[in-house]
Amino acid sequence: MDKEELNEHKVAEGVYGFRTAIANIAIVGGCGDSRDEWVIVDAGVPFSGPFIKRCAERVMGKGKKPIAIVLTHGHFDHVGGLKYLLNQWDIPVYAHKEELPFLTGEKNYLPPDPSVGMGLMSLLSPLYPRKAINLGERVRELPENGTIPEMPDWRYIHTPGHTQGHISLFRDTDKLIIVGDAFITVKQESALAVLNQTKEIHGPPAYFTPDWETAEVSIRKLHALQPRIALTGHGKPMAGSELTAGINKLVEEYDHIVVPKHGRYVH
Ligand SMILES: [Zn+2]
Ligand SMILES: [Zn+2]
Repeated sequence: MDKEELNEHKVAEGVYGFRTAIANIAIVGGCGDSRDEWVIVDAGVPFSGPFIKRCAERVMGKGKKPIAIVLTHGHFDHVGGLKYLLNQWDIPVYAHKEELPFLTGEKNYLPPDPSVGMGLMSLLSPLYPRKAINLGERVRELPENGTIPEMPDWRYIHTPGHTQGHISLFRDTDKLIIVGDAFITVKQESALAVLNQTKEIHGPPAYFTPDWETAEVSIRKLHALQPRIALTGHGKPMAGSELTAGINKLVEEYDHIVVPKHGRYVH
């Protein structure tokens, strides 16, 4: 990857975003005590491990390894490359306490709701894996005070609703947010929008969101931070007035534009 190509993936200083088929990952520099280290946020769709490793080596240099992986949540399209990556690198994985049962084989996610969102991705959703993976001792609980080990410039915001232990990562210095699926910038229910990565702000992927009330509280938390740049779990990065207008709209018209009209988890 040459410099120009790399710049296309640069979201902000030290932060790079890459898309694994349908889901994004982030490579974040400026980590560790020395600020020379780096961390990977999320681990992509199944079989994306080798691709993620290649991306990381292109950004950070061949033979270099991250000091940790941080998960926004444990859905299959965010943990798919983990097994491969953890075989390559002996590093810890951090996740929120309430997400741990889904990462240690104890609990499976609730069944997806194919009736919401009106699109091919929704219709196919019963086929998506929802069985808990088991990371065993490799996964560690994030501290309760909001700090993230190895990421001194960052803190996490607990943003449940899409999953119980969902988090978003926030950097105060430039108000950059790595959102996960708390909100996204593509209509994930539509295969065509996903294919074209049509940029448009949306609530969490509907077929996989069981708690719309809590998801609203989480979006309000992120709105209150007034982020300037957002890298979401699905879709292209969004920044500036486009982002501000987008989040304002999500908050103001939540019941109309985010919550599905009916569905398994809509009350
Ligand atoms: Zn998800
Ligand atoms: Zn996702």
